Amino acid sequence: MKRLILYEEVSLMKEIGFYQDRFVDINEKVVPIQERGHQFGDGIYEVIRVYNGELFTFDEHIDRLQMSAEAIDLEIPYSHEKIHSIVTEGLELSGIKEAEVYIQITRGIFNRQHHYPDGPAVFSMTIRHARKIEATARDKGIDTVVLDDERWLNCYIKSINLLPNVMAKQAAVKAGCTEAILHRDGIVTEGSSSNVFIVKKGILYTHPATKRILNGITRQKVIELANQQGIYVEEIQFDLHMLLEADEVFMTSTSMEVMPVKKIDNIEFTGEREITNKLISEFQKLLS
Ligand code: PMP
Repeated sequence: MKRLILYEEVSLMKEIGFYQDRFVDINEKVVPIQERGHQFGDGIYEVIRVYNGELFTFDEHIDRLQMSAEAIDLEIPYSHEKIHSIVTEGLELSGIKEAEVYIQITRGIFNRQHHYPDGPAVFSMTIRHARKIEATARDKGIDTVVLDDERWLNCYIKSINLLPNVMAKQAAVKAGCTEAILHRDGIVTEGSSSNVFIVKKGILYTHPATKRILNGITRQKVIELANQQGIYVEEIQFDLHMLLEADEVFMTSTSMEVMPVKKIDNIEFTGEREITNKLISEFQKLLS
């Protein structure tokens, strides 16, 4: 009997989409050719994790979405509360308990021209199964490559215009790695889709939340947890030399959570991961 219920629950789960003002099948073709997100990458986004049916740091993500919207002179078509109700309804419809919610707002649908008229933005969303990180993968850590940060200077905006990030991730994957660690003139900024932390002599370092990085929600949580644990945090710039000489390196993001780095280019990090492991276990406590 128990098995049967489990089977029914699984079979009811389905990934879904939302476009403009309606729920759609995840594979439905809904984006008009003159959508500015489609033609210009003119829009912003957020990725929010759902653990056991519960939205994690929803308010923080929507606040950052609002900040990104203001930065590009875009008006979000729905209130914070309305977005919450659309997401909640979507989660119920999908039945997915371990989900990744992707929210995107583009500037709308107009005849193609670079400058934009005032007009309604387009809200869209997908709800999909989250990629589960196996404990063994986290124990192992990830391999990374160092690359030039070739992005524009407003990386604090979570823009859907991700071409340099895509190229960096592709180069990492091509090199058999999981992530790229980016630097600007030798200063380590962040990953192609994550933030970077290093530990040296018991101190945690990460790039300050300037315009040169995305101020990750996971990054902010990790800093909070470190402070609670009495780990000293320095939000300062550090260079490639310091990165490669670090005692521990880890990366953070909504989808990777807190992920140790095992290798950077050909340099392997073999030391104890005392602080990384502490922060992983504190972060896991937030999710249960
Ligand atoms: N930096 C970049 C460039 C990213 O794309 C992401 C993930 N969206 C992050 C950092 C991590 O942010 P968060 O912890 O909010 O997922």
